[in-house]
Amino acid sequence: MKNTNEMEIRFDSVSVNEGFARVAVAAFLTQLNPTVEEVSDVKTAVSEAVTNAIIHGYENQVHTVRIKCIINMEEKSMELAVSDDGAGIADVAKAMEPMFTTKPELERSGMGFAFMEAFMDELSVESEEGKGTTVKMKKLIGKGRKLWTTQSL
Ligand code: ATP
Ligand code: MG
Repeated sequence: MKNTNEMEIRFDSVSVNEGFARVAVAAFLTQLNPTVEEVSDVKTAVSEAVTNAIIHGYENQVHTVRIKCIINMEEKSMELAVSDDGAGIADVAKAMEPMFTTKPELERSGMGFAFMEAFMDELSVESEEGKGTTVKMKKLIGKGRKLWTTQSL
């Protein structure tokens, strides 16, 4: 039996679609029976990555954002990639530092990547200036769940 399940969505880079992307990914994740907290972690990470694609990647011009998700049933994990074909990032390591932002005038706090890192189990960023950015993340579901038995009481 195949133990992966894959989906892909593409949508315009407009801010109303941040909510759509968050909910679409969360809906796909439900097959792994995540906790409310796990769903909320993934939603936050998707929001941050999609917002970045819209604001920084496409600088608010309307183009396409893509999200690909692969669920691994055996490992109980979901990998996702959020991609844009926008401006790209000159120095990825610097961009990922907490509090680093290239848009302080928009009152961005530079915490997007820090949140993605904190809420997900793995994060990697591939980017090329003038070509675009792909943010890959992985979340393990059920990782910290305790198995209670009556003997624990
Ligand atoms: P915040 O997320 O707190 O509102 P921010 O978006 O500036 O602020 P991060 O999300 O951590 O902070 O991103 C850091 C920097 O990386 C951004 O300021 C921007 O320069 C760059 N960046 C992030 N994502 C992209 C992207 N998809 N395309 C181009 N540049 C990006
Ligand atoms: Mg951001």
